[in-house]
Amino acid sequence: MLCVLTYHRIVEREDDPECTPGMISATQERFDAHVRFLTRHYEPVALEQVLRGVRQRANLPRRAVLITFDDGYRDFATAAWPILKRHQVPATLFVPTAYPDRPGPVFWWDRLYRSLIETSKESLHAPSVGALTLRNEEERRASFLTIRARLKGLLHDDAMQLVDRLCADLGGSREHESSTILSWEALRALASDGVSLASHTHTHPLLNRISPEQARTEFTTSIRTLEREIGPAFPVVSYPNGAHDDSVLDVLRQCGVELGFTQLPGHNDLSACDPLRLCRINVTRRTSVALLHLRMQSWFAPIERWRKRKRIRAYQSPVASPALYEESRPSRGATPA
Ligand SMILES: [Zn+2]
Repeated sequence: MLCVLTYHRIVEREDDPECTPGMISATQERFDAHVRFLTRHYEPVALEQVLRGVRQRANLPRRAVLITFDDGYRDFATAAWPILKRHQVPATLFVPTAYPDRPGPVFWWDRLYRSLIETSKESLHAPSVGALTLRNEEERRASFLTIRARLKGLLHDDAMQLVDRLCADLGGSREHESSTILSWEALRALASDGVSLASHTHTHPLLNRISPEQARTEFTTSIRTLEREIGPAFPVVSYPNGAHDDSVLDVLRQCGVELGFTQLPGHNDLSACDPLRLCRINVTRRTSVALLHLRMQSWFAPIERWRKRKRIRAYQSPVASPALYEESRPSRGATPA
């Protein structure tokens, strides 16, 4: 049985105001405690072993665990990898290949969150969401979460247009000197230090919110980019936000993908599971060692699915009609709620 863990960011403070809500997986101290727990009670394996297991339809050690990181934030290199290396634990880093070497906040969720945090405005009218108040940090975080939930129901292009429009309305985010994402040079150094790098698509769209042809291009471009920048690439992908559907999987199978990582909670029996629907346990900043222990029990998986039901439903729902920005603007003279 294989357990796969998903991490995003490892930071110094669990309430780091610079980090977009939901992106912090642990502080360095807690991550160190996680890794110590995993080395004591589980058998950390590398991506290559999982690939071999799937090819041979052979199961891995009974308590095998694969540690994965999505998105390629810089703190993987500065905060996570030194701990993993010290404990000799292998790791897989899923990289959206369009973003290394781009300056500033590159992901839409970071751009939107920073714009919300840095704006001088105290309210915002978001399409189909209505009036949002931005009077304090709490309201700004809540507004971010409301908009994010709404975006997941839109086609990717509509969602990105909406993000651009909202960021512009908010006054944009300040120019930040350095990128939050690892450069290709840093990624090459990690690869030669033993980190398995793999595709997280090229531009990180929800794959079920684009056409099958676009999904094919997203994957093949990411593989070509990894091959150009790093070397031979694994036939592996982590679906952005775990979003996938049958037609996406058909396309990826045609592209030769052998392992696909979702965000569906659960364990993986490599001798029987669909390797393009591998389950993962998403670690959040609330995941103490005791909770990690609990969440890694196979009997806990149905409870996990129930806990995550809203999230899973959000990207599985039918595509919402693109809400035109103008439609939800208050009529002239209306007072923001
Ligand atoms: Zn991601």
